[in-house]
Amino acid sequence: MTDVKYKRVLLKLSGEALAGEQGRGINPPEIMKVAKEIKDVHDLGVQVAIVVGGGNMWRGEAGAQMGMERSQADYIGMLGTVMNALALQDNLEQLDVPTRVQTSIEMRQIAEPYIRRKAIRHLEKNRIVIFAAGTGSPYFSTDTTAALRASEINADVILMAKNGVDGIYSADPRKDETATKFDKLTHMDIINRGLNVMDTTASSLSMENDIPLVVFNMNERGNIKKVVEGAPIGTTVEGK
Ligand code: UDP
Repeated sequence: MTDVKYKRVLLKLSGEALAGEQGRGINPPEIMKVAKEIKDVHDLGVQVAIVVGGGNMWRGEAGAQMGMERSQADYIGMLGTVMNALALQDNLEQLDVPTRVQTSIEMRQIAEPYIRRKAIRHLEKNRIVIFAAGTGSPYFSTDTTAALRASEINADVILMAKNGVDGIYSADPRKDETATKFDKLTHMDIINRGLNVMDTTASSLSMENDIPLVVFNMNERGNIKKVVEGAPIGTTVEGK
């Protein structure tokens, strides 16, 4: 294996990363770009697990605001992540990267059910594992899923690929020009300062299980690989 900083990574892709400019739906050329970046990391010999979001399809909270029962709306959101996972798998396989999709809600005709030991075995055999359907439970997010699965598979790091933002800022840099970027933070900093990175459940799980997080811009070509190789880009969140 080439000299890399992280040997087993959990990449969190938001649903938006798989959508086109309008931020909705599935955009195959956009997914192919992401798939190529992932292949570059896989080619280094790094074990890659991925949690995909579903915000490009549906968010349970939005459904609830429109009058739906929250759990029912969340299940729709989880199914959205499965569509994304299948699209990503298709693109990775077009690039000859072996992949398996595992879902937290059983759908045996299209994917394996989530089985921790099996997921680890796939990673050891250099297959990319895509985790879909979130945690399988309503009221959670795919960020929390990323923290949970990263803990379960003993990932060295969670790589949080953001759309157009190159790390964690004191405020939203698109709205506030005084916003400053942090190079390093602790998980507790994020919780205490209420920084908009991941939800508190995801942050506390990452903190309790001592899993570092790197937040970076995925719109710059080659960034996922750079982070894995240890380049100082984005914001690193580590420790209490
Ligand atoms: N979701 C859920 N439980 C989970 C993960 C996700 O109910 O464990 C639902 C929730 O409704 C959420 C939707 O799936 O709004 C899409 O996930 P998320 O918003 O995390 O996607 P992202 O913002 O990463 O695209």
